[in-house]
Amino acid sequence: MSKFWSPFVKNLVPYVPGEQPKLSRLVKLNTNENPYGPSPRAIAAMQAELNDNLRLYPDPNSEILKQAIAGYYGVRPEQVFVGNGSDEVLAHIFHGLFQHGVPLLFPDVTYSFYPVYCGLYGIPFETVPLNEQFQIRVEDYARPNGGIIFPNPNAPTGRLLPLAAIEQLLQGSPDSVVVVDEAYVDFGGETAIGLVDRYPNLLVTQTLSKSRSLAGLRVGLAVGHKDLIEALERIKNSFNSYPLDRMAIAGAAAAFEDRAYFERTCRQVIASRGWVVAELQRLGFEVLPSAANFVFARHPQRDAEELATGLRAQGVIVRHFKQERIRQFLRITIGTPEQNQALIEVLSTLC
Ligand code: PMP
Repeated sequence: MSKFWSPFVKNLVPYVPGEQPKLSRLVKLNTNENPYGPSPRAIAAMQAELNDNLRLYPDPNSEILKQAIAGYYGVRPEQVFVGNGSDEVLAHIFHGLFQHGVPLLFPDVTYSFYPVYCGLYGIPFETVPLNEQFQIRVEDYARPNGGIIFPNPNAPTGRLLPLAAIEQLLQGSPDSVVVVDEAYVDFGGETAIGLVDRYPNLLVTQTLSKSRSLAGLRVGLAVGHKDLIEALERIKNSFNSYPLDRMAIAGAAAAFEDRAYFERTCRQVIASRGWVVAELQRLGFEVLPSAANFVFARHPQRDAEELATGLRAQGVIVRHFKQERIRQFLRITIGTPEQNQALIEVLSTLC
């Protein structure tokens, strides 16, 4: 801290991301990356940009990417917004689309960036408890609010909310912006994008970091009514005129066009999740039903933090959270079959 820090900077509580270790020998199951590489078509498209076009500014509107996303989801390009990872898309949403006078609502166990953005943008918020089974109760959101946001499936629980419940929630708050953060939807959820034409208050965000294996490229998106998208464009254009670089636009567009690769790798992750769940249960873990590329599990006789430390000592990194309600859980990303095997072997020595 220095005397040049304003009270605003002093009061910020920044987000702490999961560890990104340098040792490649580690089995890294802590930040929900995809164990398979991106689509070869995405790599080829980025290579072509690298060879020919980096001299030139990118398209400020990322048009070919918006068209690829619109084509994939059957919406119009003006219903699509793109940014540097969904974290940046969410930053714009928090900055400009939630009301600042009435509290924003989100679950009490959820993505820990939401309260950070509330702090940054001065947004009041209230958290809404999950039920005993760690599920979102939509009826609890039917009260005055300045907006609603939740991941579906939720993070870090992995629990999925059915589309019918999302519709109920949208109908209960027709005057607020409702954001469904679908970072993990491709691993067993059903997207709410099909609802955007009926609910002008709905925004759906997604990322290419998980199911499309491009976390390092930083591309995220939002789909919604064109008026909400236009609002996001106004915010973005007041802030950064070239949000995505040429590699990101080309690589992300090609990733959306390679449906076969995407579907195959998602199926592999889902199949491996089934194996990991069964093995964890065999070791005595209670595992929440997961629709994501990670599982959330606790062992009735073992302390989660000690397990995480024990795993780390043997080269396997998983995520442990200190938040009271979930401090007995581990969040474990689904890896390759070899990584999953290593996880279970080490855990067998600890349980
Ligand atoms: N939403 C949720 C629920 C997440 O878990 C993450 C990943 N940390 C993100 C958004 C952000 O992902 P990215 O910025 O890589 O698109």
